[in-house]
Amino acid sequence: MNNFAGIHVDNVTLNEAIDKVRGFFASADPHMIVTPNPEMIVAAQADQELKEIINSADLRVPDGISMVVVSRILKKPLKERVSGIDLMLKIIGVFSRQGKKVYLLGGGAGIAEAAAEKLISEYPGIRITGIHDGYFNQDVEVIQNIKEAQPDILFVGLGAGRQEKWLNRHLKELNVPVAMTIGGSLDVISGHKKRAPKIFQKMCIEWLYRLITEPHRWKRQLALPKFLWLMFVESAS
Ligand code: UDP
Repeated sequence: MNNFAGIHVDNVTLNEAIDKVRGFFASADPHMIVTPNPEMIVAAQADQELKEIINSADLRVPDGISMVVVSRILKKPLKERVSGIDLMLKIIGVFSRQGKKVYLLGGGAGIAEAAAEKLISEYPGIRITGIHDGYFNQDVEVIQNIKEAQPDILFVGLGAGRQEKWLNRHLKELNVPVAMTIGGSLDVISGHKKRAPKIFQKMCIEWLYRLITEPHRWKRQLALPKFLWLMFVESAS
């Protein structure tokens, strides 16, 4: 396990993460997977609840190349970056073949439906037993809907911070073996938002692509220098 300014992150590869998920299915309890990135690490410094939720999650994959770089400088190298969307798609690929049922929660009107259609066309045999958009006021109705769908895997994309708190609050009641927070992955899967071209992904500069294509996000990207500063202060003390 690695520690970034008090946030625990598991040092796993994508395949090792899948092995852990396999183990989660073998036990009866519900499990929570989160994908901390520099933005969340910075946000959690001022949000004790978020910090505790990340630290007590069953699997926390490092979703940021800067985390890998920093970990190398600090001589506690992370094996690789594991992005949320890669893990989500791998979970779907591996476990839908075993007949596991999937529920998609999050995104604006029509996004979860469009994402479900894409997944059905790309993963033959996938069983999506429920979907719901991420803009609701009444938790009760959504919880009821998820319980009725009885998914084995629940993906929750309600925006960083809100999704972790929502899932943590309701996980026991939902009693889903594997639940994972996914940010805006449904937007990407549905085709509503484009993922960075492969070359950007290979060069580990997806953040640059997002900055170019969504310039209004520049404020969010200030989290990166803040994260680096936090890590510098920590290593110097
Ligand atoms: N979202 C939602 N309900 C909300 C707020 C956000 O479903 O009340 C969704 C939003 O539609 C988008 C995702 O949360 O699909 C964005 O999450 P985040 O900003 O964490 O994603 P990132 O773009 O960083 O992956």
